[in-house]
Amino acid sequence: MHEMSICEGILLTLEEEAQKQHFHRVKQVWLEIGVFAGVEPQALQFGWEVVTRNTLAEGAFLHIIDEPGQAWCLDCSQTVSIQNRFDDCPNCGSHLLQVTAGEAMRIKELEVD
Ligand SMILES: [Zn+2]
Repeated sequence: MHEMSICEGILLTLEEEAQKQHFHRVKQVWLEIGVFAGVEPQALQFGWEVVTRNTLAEGAFLHIIDEPGQAWCLDCSQTVSIQNRFDDCPNCGSHLLQVTAGEAMRIKELEVD
């Protein structure tokens, strides 16, 4: 399951940060996920509970924040908002869009002890 390995990746990052920043417990995590990242939030929440069991992040609340999709239109040279990865430019109808936001996944904030 895709979401499971994402959770493992997050946990690994948290463990590294815990060593660097000397905290012992993670209480809350704010995770920003692009709308095109193909992540199912419910599956992620489920995976999170399983993966964090008996770890420093056990019981930590996972907040999922959507990062909206954006693209750069090569024809009208503007940043435009898009709902789907293969949308046309809402301004000029061009297909020449480069997705600039909505694919990333990053930990935005942590609450630790
Ligand atoms: Zn355009």
